[in-house]
Amino acid sequence: MCIECPNCGFEDAYHDGVNYVCPNCGNEWDDGNDYDSDLGEGQVDYVRFDRGDIWAVLIDGDEVYIDSDEVLDHYSRHRITRGLVNRLSEDLHSETIKYYLDDDGDLSLDGELSDYI
Ligand SMILES: [Zn+2]
Repeated sequence: MCIECPNCGFEDAYHDGVNYVCPNCGNEWDDGNDYDSDLGEGQVDYVRFDRGDIWAVLIDGDEVYIDSDEVLDHYSRHRITRGLVNRLSEDLHSETIKYYLDDDGDLSLDGELSDYI
């Protein structure tokens, strides 16, 4: 994911778990998300597909919902197949993803698949 520093415009700032940090000028700033307290992150172990829903299973056992339409869009496919789920699982394996608690009480992927793959 590309984060631009508001101070110097450098485009490769990173998140240290609390704040964004710019390696260019040393600026640190809050990520400004209202739902920040609900945000979590974790490393993906594998991807699970069940009854039309796709879940990223994290190493700690949490499951994060991924919108299946977004998966289809990302891979330019028309339907979810076992092969596609396997490919997504490989692509996300060991990636650290961010998630938030949605209105239904499910952990959902924060941002888009292209932020992580
Ligand atoms: Zn900067």
